[in-house]
Amino acid sequence: MEIVCLDLEGVLVPEIWIAFAEKTGIPELKATTRDYSDYDELMQMRLGVLDKHNLGLNDINEVISNIAPLAGAKAFLDKIRDEYQLVILSDTFYEFGMPLMRQLGLPTLFCHRLETDANGRIINYKLRLTDHKRKAVEAFKQLNFNIVAAGDSYNDTTMLKAADTGILFRAPQNVIEEFPQYQSAVEYDDLYNKIVAGFTAAGNG
Ligand SMILES: [Mg+2]
Repeated sequence: MEIVCLDLEGVLVPEIWIAFAEKTGIPELKATTRDYSDYDELMQMRLGVLDKHNLGLNDINEVISNIAPLAGAKAFLDKIRDEYQLVILSDTFYEFGMPLMRQLGLPTLFCHRLETDANGRIINYKLRLTDHKRKAVEAFKQLNFNIVAAGDSYNDTTMLKAADTGILFRAPQNVIEEFPQYQSAVEYDDLYNKIVAGFTAAGNG
């Protein structure tokens, strides 16, 4: 019994806020956690900017439905889902993720939520749970699943650690060097082979 747990942004789709900033032409939205040490400050800035540009939920959905998944991502996911259970564990928000999920054949997505008012204006954000990627993997293991997890960044490393096999995918060089205990892949074919090998090593391939 196997579950593949995948990060979303940088693995299957582009960084959503950056792609959204490019689609809307709003440069402030390109800021990331590298520019703000306080995540809440970053999110409040983003929500203020959306408000200033009068972007509500419907507008966001429309913009994001025009952002494409990474080349080859859909075929890779289809191949994985043909063999294994799949859960995408992401720190994005459903309001951002779902238009992209539709383009990927609606895989299961665990992430966070934006709070909107009756007019679709975004008033706040709600993290479902902190460190939820790791906690999800630990919970799946409690349910007797073997887990192979893959992600591209720091916020994935606790889930990689909790998994039976953790794989970095298209991670920046500094992350690869800081976490040499994880295998690293750049192409989907290679990632697929490493996932299969991970389950085979666990004796359930
Ligand atoms: Mg990522």
